[in-house]
Formats: sequence, structure tokens, C-alpha cells
Amino acid sequence: MISRIKGTHDLLDVKLFNLIVDQAKHLLQNYHFSEIITPILEPIELYKRSLGLETDIVSKEMFIVSSENEETICLRPEATAATMRAFLEHSIQSNPWKVFSCGPLFRHERPQKGRYRQFNQVNIEIINSSAIAHDIQLITMLERFFGQILKRDSFALALNFLGCYNDRQSFKGILQNFLISIQDQLCSQCLIRKEKNIMRVFDCKNQTCQALYAQAPQIAQHVCASCALEWQQLQEQLSLLSVSFNYKPQLVRGLDYYDKTVFEFISDNLGAQTAFCGGGRYDALPQQLGSDQQVPSVGAAFGVERLMLLLEPHLNQLTFPVQPALHVIIPFTQEQQRLALLLADEMHAANLCTDVFVEGDSVKSMLRKANKMGARFALLLGPDEHTAREVMVKDMVDGTQETIHQADLVMFLKSKN
Ligand code: ATP
Ligand code: MG
Repeated sequence: MISRIKGTHDLLDVKLFNLIVDQAKHLLQNYHFSEIITPILEPIELYKRSLGLETDIVSKEMFIVSSENEETICLRPEATAATMRAFLEHSIQSNPWKVFSCGPLFRHERPQKGRYRQFNQVNIEIINSSAIAHDIQLITMLERFFGQILKRDSFALALNFLGCYNDRQSFKGILQNFLISIQDQLCSQCLIRKEKNIMRVFDCKNQTCQALYAQAPQIAQHVCASCALEWQQLQEQLSLLSVSFNYKPQLVRGLDYYDKTVFEFISDNLGAQTAFCGGGRYDALPQQLGSDQQVPSVGAAFGVERLMLLLEPHLNQLTFPVQPALHVIIPFTQEQQRLALLLADEMHAANLCTDVFVEGDSVKSMLRKANKMGARFALLLGPDEHTAREVMVKDMVDGTQETIHQADLVMFLKSKN
């Protein structure tokens, strides 16, 4: 037997998955975002430059597919870099470019509940606008969406502000001094981060380090005047819109391209990994990709599987789209099968959801099977009906039966729907 690849899964019932994605698409269209699709295969260089060499994703989670003519191709681990690549590659002029995409991403992580090697995201970007009002609108939209879809499930919004590039450069010195003062208590990983990618220390999972970082200097308190104003506007306007948030000075997010606003939506019901959505502003990403254009942007992504985990305990309280009534045609013998296929063809053309039983079981067991499937009507085709050009229509809900002429069948069933 061949089994599926570790960290991947077969989704045998897509109802909940589709409910989440369909509702997200509906919401995004209402907020005037358009959908795009970018390739699953991308050059690895895209992520090395954008996410940064020291990030977990690039340093250990990439799925490399092949190397051709000095170009290494990988499976995409996130969607923002490719969306920005597409914006630059197609010289898009929209100001802003409001787009979203849905699809699978790949990270070679240690699989556990809510953490897979292939997973799906809805990724949302507002590209080419520096207005902090877009950060506010994006966060508010997500808060409303999660509030609506998760209803009973509590979640919280964690928010931080990382300032601009220059702010972070000067903050690194301040942070360095603090880390030196406690370096004999830091874990070995943090000592490496301190040298290679200092802001990443805040990502440390070690409890001792985290307790020490509660006293660390906070970047949001060390930003330039114009960033300080934006940080203030962000907080004030979110409060005005009744979006509650927790200021979390240790939130830096796992990727190197973030500037200014960063946020995560978190839930206690997800086990070890608590975030189900993350995002922020990434004003410097185009430069990291080699462009000389200024393309300030803000975006977010949420994991479909993590939302599914949150919703699974409440399945019976969700409203799924109504399934069309199922009609099952039951030919009694081989002889009626041809006629059954002809009738089914006519019914499909009339948009009636129809299945034909062709396994040659007894009528009794076919009726039992139709019942189990939740069929609304069973259409019985025996030798008598065959000769008389009729069908016996059995209402599976009240058990009544009616004989209908084959020529009138579609019209009769349509009147019942
Ligand atoms: P985490 O802290 O859990 O590793 P992350 O910061 O790596 O998350 P992002 O890159 O911000 O996650 O991706 C956004 C969202 O995508 C996450 O909030 C989560 O819902 C989902 N996600 C990320 N990695 C995985 C994974 N390996 N399996 C399932 N969902 C994931
Ligand atoms: Mg991660």
C-alpha cells in the first residue's frame, strides 16, 4: 500500500473547507478585492530575497523541486512575495491593487495538529498604498469576518508596530545593549539570533527567554515622529471602529519583510500554535526583490485548516448551502437501464440532481440505498412502466407514489422543487 506524504491530508468532505473559502471570497468581493491565481512553482530566489535567509521558512522549510539552468525551483511557502512579483512583473498601475488568492502552500515543518506540510491559505493584499487607513480597513475587515464566522469561539487580535527601516536600524542598537545585559541567561539560539537577525529573538519559544523579553525595550516606543503618528492613528481608529486589540510588543512575525503594522489573530483553542491569521505592512519588499519602485503595501493571510479546527466543534450550528433535491432512478432489470440513462440525460439537462443505480441489486436494497443517500424522490422503472412509457415516482419523505408519463416527468419534478 502506498500512503500519503507525511504532513499532507486527504479532505474527504469539503463542506466546511468550501464554506470558509466561499464566505471569505464573498466578503473580499464586498470589500472590492479581486481574485488572482499565481503559480505554485516559483524560483527559490524570490523567497531568499524577500523572507530573508535566516527565517525558518527559507533556512529549513523549503520544498525544492528541481534546479534548471542555475535556477532552483521550489513549491511556494507563502503568497505575498509572489503577489508582489506579479505586481512588478506585469507593471500594474493600480493604486492601490486590492487582490486576494486562495490555494495550497508548502512548508517542510514538523507535522502536528494544525501544522501541516501542505496547507491552504486565503491571502489578501493591498499593494501600492502607504495610507495607514488601509491597515485599519484590512484589520477591521478581518475582525468582522472572524467575528461572524467563528461566532461562539473567542479570539483575540495581537498588534504591534515595528516602525520604518531606519527606526529598526536604530532600535537594533538599543536591543543589542539590552541583550548584552542579560546574555548569560539567554538560550543558545537567541545568542545566534542576537548576532544574525536580532529582532527574531522575540520569536523564541523558550520560557526563560520570553520572561526576560517582557522587560525588553519596545520598538513602538522608539520610532520616528511620522511613524509615531501612524501608530497612534492605527490604535485610535481601531478603537473608534470597536476593534479590540492587545498591544503585544514582542510580536515581530516570522518573516523579514515586515515594517510598521504587524498583527495576528489568535485563539486558545488551537493547541500549541495559537495564530490562525497573520499580517502586516511590507513597504520595503519591492526593494528586496530588486525593484527600484516604491510600492508600500499591507496584507494578511489566514490558514483555512486552522479555521476548520476552530469550527469543527460547532458544525451543527453552521449554515451550509442547501443541497439540491436528489432524484434516484431505479431500473428493475438490465432492460430498463438504457431507458434510465436516457431519462437521466433529460433530467440533467433540466438541472435536476440525478443519480442512476446500475449495480443490478434488488429493488428493495436499491430503495434502501436511495433512502440512506437522502434521496428526495426515487423513480422506479419496472417492465410495466417501461411498456406503458411511465415512471413510478416515489416521494421518499412521505412514502406516497404517483405514476407519471415519461414525457411529463421533468415538468412534474420541476414543479416539486
Ligand atoms: P506559525 O506561527 O503557526 O508558524 P506563521 O507565522 O508561520 O505561523 P504565516 O506565515 O503568517 O504563519 O501564515 C499565516 C497563516 O497560515 C497562519 O496563521 C496559519 O493559519 C497558517 N499556517 C502557517 N503555517 C501553517 C502550517 N504549517 N500548517 C497549517 N497552517 C499554517
Ligand atoms: Mg511558521
